[in-house]
Amino acid sequence: MNGTLLIVGAGLSGAVIGRTLAEAGYDVVIVDSRSHVAGNCHTVRDDEAGVLVHVYGPHIFHTNDREVWDYVNQFETFQAYTHRVKTTWGDGVYSLPINLHTINQFYNKALRPNEAQAFIKKISRTDIEEPKNLEEQALSFIGPDLYAAFFEGYTRKQWGCNPDELPASILKRLPVRFNYNDNYFFHAFQGMPKHGYTALVEKILDHPKIEVRLTEHFKKPDGTDFKHVFYSGPLDGYFNFDIGHLGYRTLDFERFVYEGDFQGCAVMNFGSADVPHTRITEHKHFAPWEQHDVSVLYREYSRACTPDDIPYYPIRLVEEKALLSRYANRAHQENNVTFVGRLGTYRYIDMDVTIREALDTAEMYLDFTEKSRKV
Ligand code: UDP
Repeated sequence: MNGTLLIVGAGLSGAVIGRTLAEAGYDVVIVDSRSHVAGNCHTVRDDEAGVLVHVYGPHIFHTNDREVWDYVNQFETFQAYTHRVKTTWGDGVYSLPINLHTINQFYNKALRPNEAQAFIKKISRTDIEEPKNLEEQALSFIGPDLYAAFFEGYTRKQWGCNPDELPASILKRLPVRFNYNDNYFFHAFQGMPKHGYTALVEKILDHPKIEVRLTEHFKKPDGTDFKHVFYSGPLDGYFNFDIGHLGYRTLDFERFVYEGDFQGCAVMNFGSADVPHTRITEHKHFAPWEQHDVSVLYREYSRACTPDDIPYYPIRLVEEKALLSRYANRAHQENNVTFVGRLGTYRYIDMDVTIREALDTAEMYLDFTEKSRKV
């Protein structure tokens, strides 16, 4: 067996693990079946408009983890960026996440923070103490009207099921604020890589001990080729889907070009189930420091993922959880393979968490190999 490490997937997980282990002296081979690095946070300059496009949908870097923030800033300049999302409902456009402006707009009122809080409390389902699903979570903190306008239809489109079948945790990502703060995120650090995520990942991968092989499909090593495998591909794919497919939602993007500014913000959501798309992304607003007259936009549609599609969001309903635990048991029994990242562990995780886990995984590997060398 040689001492080379194999990493499957050149996204954030693979790049960060590869870099950490290369710096520790290991030779690292990274394979990726796609023709580019950076996985689903891949960004590219649009040929026609010159705008930096988030090819697989909007990615905004935000974190409370100072070490992760410092880590990414070593490789790429992060421009100040605050994500502000709007949502269209009926004839109006409203501010998200739900804040004092949304409440006053929606109910045509001019409430102060404490008045709004009392008002929302009065219309919310205060009898729901421990929300068991996404619908109960929404009803318990914003009441039925705001839920119907902004969450019910959107969630049906996004997840393809009733909101009462989904875990409450999905909505815990979104706060409700009784002030005019419309920052989509509540983390201490937020920004956009100046030259895009692909440039960031390329810089992480730029190390003499890392060899990246694109358009190369993963084949299980025969046990002698590599010292260890870090696998960030789909967990079920590793086992050739032999006990079934884990459910994912995939996305379709309908590109269109507009002369000027189409919607005045990066992301416009559509709350109504009658509008088939979930949101429209106007990519140039992700890079406000650049000047572009022509705009590139993506209309985003969510649907069930088939084996030929790119998996985006793990569904994790009861059925998937049962299958997941069977695959996870098998994964634990694999020798010399570590399953990492969103696809490798079948979880809906943000970029900062992905990087944190990748750094920790690499450190654990180093600790472990160091200890076994001493034994
Ligand atoms: N959501 C919603 N309406 C919105 C935005 C979000 O109902 O206008 C719900 C939806 O179920 C979504 C979840 O909140 O999946 C998390 O939203 P987020 O914007 O964090 O999703 P992402 O950008 O990761 O797709």
